[in-house]
Amino acid sequence: MPRIVDLSFPIHEGMTTFPSHWHPMVEITQMGRHGIENRETRKLVLGTHTGTHVDAPSHFIPGGTTIDRIPLDKLCGPAAPVDLTFSKPKHAVTLAEIKKAVGARRHKILLLRYDWSKKWGDRSYYTDYPFLSTEAAAWIVSRGTTLLGMDAPSPDNPAHNINCKTDSPVHKILLGKGVVLSEYLANLKALGAAKEVTFFAMPLKVLGADGAPARCVAIVGGRG
Ligand SMILES: [Zn+2]
Repeated sequence: MPRIVDLSFPIHEGMTTFPSHWHPMVEITQMGRHGIENRETRKLVLGTHTGTHVDAPSHFIPGGTTIDRIPLDKLCGPAAPVDLTFSKPKHAVTLAEIKKAVGARRHKILLLRYDWSKKWGDRSYYTDYPFLSTEAAAWIVSRGTTLLGMDAPSPDNPAHNINCKTDSPVHKILLGKGVVLSEYLANLKALGAAKEVTFFAMPLKVLGADGAPARCVAIVGGRG
């Protein structure tokens, strides 16, 4: 029997958000109340990169494709989970390592599994995560990848941020070639040893936006 695995973090007040002023803290305010308005409603304050989300090319590329214009067939389809759980904190995955972990699989969607989601809620989630070398990122582009998912907050070295000379080089390599990113995936461990799953990332359709929170799931089994 096919199994549906939820790969998304829950959204709630006080949840971890990227520690920079351009990523807001989440606020959830109850508006309608049972017994008073006799219905429940809420106001949400979220960033476009809150929790499990998709990055559109326009996040780093001026004039790049926005989240509402990414074709659904780029966001959904057969995907290869890629076991990188050997990575120590702050490890830069090399070209040889990514090639070996992907092997002969030709899927256009790759899901990088570090099991880093276990650090969710801890400050080290943002400071110590493993990431891709620029050589590994260039190879991912060259093999025709259209979506790259990962259970880490970013594909870039945490030291290569806005205060650095080389600001987010891996984001620019990937998004610059139209490779969409699905960041902050959770629970990739639950895919087990599956060599192929069917992946769905459903970002909110926010017109003109650089990204959006997404419900991401994978279906395991039931193919072939
Ligand atoms: Zn992002």
